[in-house]
Amino acid sequence: MNIRHHLDDATLLAFAAGSLSEGMSLLVASHIDRCTDCQTRLQQAEAVGGALLEELAPVALAPGALEQVLALLDTDAGKPEARPAAPAPVQYADIPAPLAPYLKKSLDELDWRTLVPGVRQFDLRLGGPGATRLLRIAPGLSVPHHGHRGNEMTLILRGSYSDELGRFQAGDVADLDEQISHQPISDSGEDCICLIATDAPLRFSGLMGRLVQPFIGL
Ligand SMILES: [Zn+2]
Repeated sequence: MNIRHHLDDATLLAFAAGSLSEGMSLLVASHIDRCTDCQTRLQQAEAVGGALLEELAPVALAPGALEQVLALLDTDAGKPEARPAAPAPVQYADIPAPLAPYLKKSLDELDWRTLVPGVRQFDLRLGGPGATRLLRIAPGLSVPHHGHRGNEMTLILRGSYSDELGRFQAGDVADLDEQISHQPISDSGEDCICLIATDAPLRFSGLMGRLVQPFIGL
């Protein structure tokens, strides 16, 4: 896979620290699943986090803390429950492994909901303050020009799009913050399907955006 657009350092550190939302974590893990560059960078980020932890001053434990931990080890509390083996999930070439359990079917079999002609959505309904959804955009169509109140990450699963920042193809991730306003256009011969996670609602600019926003609910 020829990946050109990667996660930024701040995102990798936040992921390593476990401080991203479920949707953002899912998207980051899905990119890393396919990207050896970011796998290496994540290991570095985790090493940095470990070094920071080691520099923290040790804290005195309460009297008897060690005995309490050891006592726990003697009970069944710490033992994992035996679970029946889950059936092996079906693999789809264009669905990264971390995303597969959320979809449970191929991209074409999902229950897509039409937003406007040529633009369909599948909401993962993860809850939380932001949104995590798949967007499916027909060739030649664009998403209205918009900025962000928070962060927006997009991972391309199929097809491609272009915007002010460049061309994004399968495996590429667009890691955008509030500074960036953009208008992606689906620019290959097939639908562009991408996973999008936000931690705040998008803010559309321009007349088209104001008309479409309440309808799309992005
Ligand atoms: Zn990467």
